Amino acid sequence: MKPLRPGRSFLFRLPKGSDIGVEVAAACRRAKVRCAWVQAIGATTKARLGYYDQRRRRYFEKEFRGEMEILHCVGNVSLKDGVPFAHLHAALGDGKYRVWGGHLFASEVFAAEVLIQELRGPAPVRLPDPATGLSLWGLPAARPRR
Ligand code: ZN
Repeated sequence: MKPLRPGRSFLFRLPKGSDIGVEVAAACRRAKVRCAWVQAIGATTKARLGYYDQRRRRYFEKEFRGEMEILHCVGNVSLKDGVPFAHLHAALGDGKYRVWGGHLFASEVFAAEVLIQELRGPAPVRLPDPATGLSLWGLPAARPRR
């Protein structure tokens, strides 16, 4: 495992109606960011969250329509099929202060503020992982046993 170094930081607002994951990946492509840590806050008018069923090896998706606060959206950017790919999770709050969360498949933002913290060095690459059925980073090389 090689250390990554902090690179550039990008702080920006997303336009109403945009999708966080699409915009983060596009911003990274434009700025030639291959690896990053991502955070966002704001509000959505629609969002699709997912839960990965480990036994069935598939995502279950649920759509949340209506006003929701983006309490916390966090994730990363790495390379998948040679281009920056955003993997994001989100906790969304409704008007009754209930919180819903999961893997963020899609979002339609009312407003959102995003931080992309670039990490420089060898960017992780997503590949199919037979053990989980997911598209994951390669594992660090095993250390010799003593
Ligand atoms: Zn996920």
